Amino acid sequence: MPELPDVEGFRRVLRKAAGRTIDRVDVLDAGVLRGVDAGELRDALMGATFAAPRRHGKWLVGPVRAGRRHRRDEPSVVFHFGMTGSLTWSSADAERHRHDRVTVGAGSRELRYRDLRKLQGIRLLPDDDAVTDLLHDLGPDAADVDDVELGERLGRRPRRLKPALMDQTVVAGLGNLLADEILWQARIHPGRGTRDLTDADRRRLYDRLHAVLRRSTRAGRVPGWPSWLTGHRDGPDDTCPRCGAHLRRTRLGGRTTVWCPRCQPT
Ligand SMILES: [Zn+2]
Repeated sequence: MPELPDVEGFRRVLRKAAGRTIDRVDVLDAGVLRGVDAGELRDALMGATFAAPRRHGKWLVGPVRAGRRHRRDEPSVVFHFGMTGSLTWSSADAERHRHDRVTVGAGSRELRYRDLRKLQGIRLLPDDDAVTDLLHDLGPDAADVDDVELGERLGRRPRRLKPALMDQTVVAGLGNLLADEILWQARIHPGRGTRDLTDADRRRLYDRLHAVLRRSTRAGRVPGWPSWLTGHRDGPDDTCPRCGAHLRRTRLGGRTTVWCPRCQPT
C-alpha cells in the first residue's frame, strides 16, 4: 500500500513529466476517475503542461498550466493511490500493463496511472482553492512535522498510539508498514495510550519517525531490510531482528499490527 515514501517517489515521476506539452490523454478505465469524466480530463490537459508537483501525506497534486506558470485559477490533477495505485513515466512504445487505467502522453513518453483495486484514483480540481479544501482536514505532512507539534497532536485525545499515528488528520502520510516500523524502532508498544507516553518515549518516537521516513523516502518505499521489522514481518522468519523473539501480530485499528513482545513491552 502506497505510503508517504512511495508517493514521494510518484512525485518524482510526475516531475519528469512537468514542462512537457501534453498531446494524449487516454482513459482506459474511467473507474479511477473521481468527480471528473474522461472528456473533462482531456479538455483540461490537452496542450497544457504540468507545473512542479507537490505532495501532502499520501496525496499528490499536479498543477496544470497553460502558460509559463500555474495560476491560482487553473486546475490541478490530484492523485490518491489507495491500496494499489502507482505512477510510472514510460516510453510510449512500451507495452501497457492491464491495470494501466489512465495515460497522459507527451511526445515519446507517457505517465501511466496503474491501479488494481481502484479504491481511489484521479481528481481534477478547478483551482487552487478547491485543492486547499480537499486537503483541509489533513494534519501536517509527517516528513515536516516537528516534535512539539507531533506531541501536541497525538495528545489531543486519549487513544491507542498506532491508530493515532495512522490517522491522516493527526499527521499525514503514515500507513500500516511505517507505523509498525517506527514503533518497533522506537521500542514502543503499538497499543500504548497517546497520553501515557513519557518525554523519553516521545523523543524516541519523533527521532525514529524521521529516521524511518528519511531512509524510506530515499528507497522509494518502506524497505524490507534484514535489520528492519518490515524485512521480517511477512517472511518465513518472523523473528525480531534485534532480539530474536518471535514477533506477535494482532488487529489494531482494523489493521494487522506486528510488534516484538520483548522490545515493545506493554
Ligand atoms: Zn525484539
